[in-house]
Amino acid sequence: MPEGHSLERAARRLRPLVGARVAAGPLAGAVVSGVEARGKHLLVHTEDGRCLHAHLGLHGSARLRPPGQGRGRHVLRTGAGDLVIAGRVELAARPPQLRLGPDLLHGRVDAAAYLRRARAVDRPVGELLLDQRVLAGIGNIVKSETLWERRQSPFQPASELSDRRLLELAATARRQLRQGVTGRLPMSVYRRTGRPCPRCRTPIRSALQGEHARRTYHCPRCQAA
Ligand SMILES: [Zn+2]
Repeated sequence: MPEGHSLERAARRLRPLVGARVAAGPLAGAVVSGVEARGKHLLVHTEDGRCLHAHLGLHGSARLRPPGQGRGRHVLRTGAGDLVIAGRVELAARPPQLRLGPDLLHGRVDAAAYLRRARAVDRPVGELLLDQRVLAGIGNIVKSETLWERRQSPFQPASELSDRRLLELAATARRQLRQGVTGRLPMSVYRRTGRPCPRCRTPIRSALQGEHARRTYHCPRCQAA
């Protein structure tokens, strides 16, 4: 699943499309008025109020190719370049209601809305952080790295965490995602199973977690429940 920071980077790379008229493909004839990442969704807005909504899933991508050179199932051709999307694409008459939680990369995080959503269902904190209806933008890397940095077990029920603790986790994830937009994400535990924890040298473990069986990487000593 692309993390929020990679969608944000994609949206920034696609900015040359703003102001360009779509020559062919979905939205033909419309003028692009904005390209926006919201959580893990990419939105292409047009001046006539329509919206192309791409959900890039686990392995999707959105790339800008020189005019006339885009190939694939979803290609938006403009004089400024061809937008090639690999992923699920929908066209809408207006921007979709995405039912996302507060977006960690855009604007102020509404702490009350986040806590209300976090408290709505009880589940392990490692699953909570991946739920885009609670906070938008966190993927598997930032989840694992945030929990490691804050010495938090992924398996502890979120209901046992204080509001302050939940806010700390959101702030750390936000900082990491912002770091990822311009540079690199931290990689202390992600995909480092069996290698020593950078803090205490205990071998990193991994486990599958939640209904979608997402892998979580953790230090069993620093992040003991
Ligand atoms: Zn450790």
